[in-house]
Amino acid sequence: MRGKIVWLGVLLVTAVCVSRAQTQAPTKKKEIQITWLGHAAFELVSSGGTDILIDPFLTKNPATPAELKDLSRYHPNFILVTHSHGDHLGDAVELAKMTKAKIVSVYMPEPFKKGELSPELIEPVNVGDHVTLGDVKVHVVPAMHSSEPSGRPVGFVVEFADGRSVYHQGDTWIFGDMALIQEFYHPNIILMPVGAVADGQSPRMAWIAVTRYFKPQVVIPMHYGALPGSSTEADLRAVFGKDPRVVFMKPGETKKF
Ligand SMILES: [Zn+2]
Repeated sequence: MRGKIVWLGVLLVTAVCVSRAQTQAPTKKKEIQITWLGHAAFELVSSGGTDILIDPFLTKNPATPAELKDLSRYHPNFILVTHSHGDHLGDAVELAKMTKAKIVSVYMPEPFKKGELSPELIEPVNVGDHVTLGDVKVHVVPAMHSSEPSGRPVGFVVEFADGRSVYHQGDTWIFGDMALIQEFYHPNIILMPVGAVADGQSPRMAWIAVTRYFKPQVVIPMHYGALPGSSTEADLRAVFGKDPRVVFMKPGETKKF
């Protein structure tokens, strides 16, 4: 009887230790720096200094502050482009030529040829690929949209050294495979397009996507407030309520997570 009690005690202690180990973060949090440049344009900087521009629509972006339209101020290591629409491809080709940073995207023959971009500045990827860029790993995931004249639309999950990840959704409507993106990559921070009033991903559809498919700690709304007819911050607040996970940024603002 006494032996049984001792064994029960050992089992109990082991169970407590295992459950503690599972709830503890595997790695210490390292800083992720996020700057919103307006619309879908972001600059992410890792703790190791990897500087990534995503969808750098800057010079013609009505929401980008004047001082951030000057391309010579950017020194990215890599440029990620979700699809070839002008409000996402933006100044990517020009920036790659100026800075020698590679463009990571689905191959886009028309803009790359027109811009006379040399092959060394292109890292062609497709859905399901992952690439290591400095101290981060980027997973290419699908998006529900189109991509005239080239390629296909994608999103990017940028995984940082401490295990946390930022999911830039590109331009998309809600889709069922978001469940797989959550299962495989469980993004902590979601940069979520919410600009459509009538078509595309409206704030209401975006919020259904967040609550149905994801478990983020932070949601940063984007792709609104720049182009005519897109939703406003007031529209978003009416849908998202006071959910503390929603972080509103101003174009040009930098936040550290
Ligand atoms: Zn688009």
